[in-house]
Amino acid sequence: MAKVTQCQSCGIPLDKKTPAGTEKDGSLSSKYCTHCYQNGEWTMDLSFDEMYDYNLKRFQESDMNKVQKYFLNKMYTKKFMRKLDRWSE
Ligand SMILES: [Zn+2]
Repeated sequence: MAKVTQCQSCGIPLDKKTPAGTEKDGSLSSKYCTHCYQNGEWTMDLSFDEMYDYNLKRFQESDMNKVQKYFLNKMYTKKFMRKLDRWSE
């Protein structure tokens, strides 16, 4: 049984810096991060492409270390994002 450890909307790993979002009843989301999802709703109503560009920029500007950024540049593709629950229709 795999535990979801990355946001199924933007793909960012869920950890202390990026906590889970919240459902309508205030409980923590098991799937989405706080940037994407709050009170049971998307924080931003973006298309797939807009979301991809937004995330890429956000990650680049975050305080990730060089190794994480290197990994990100290699791994964070549209193909990767398509596999996340929100986009995999
Ligand atoms: Zn997210």
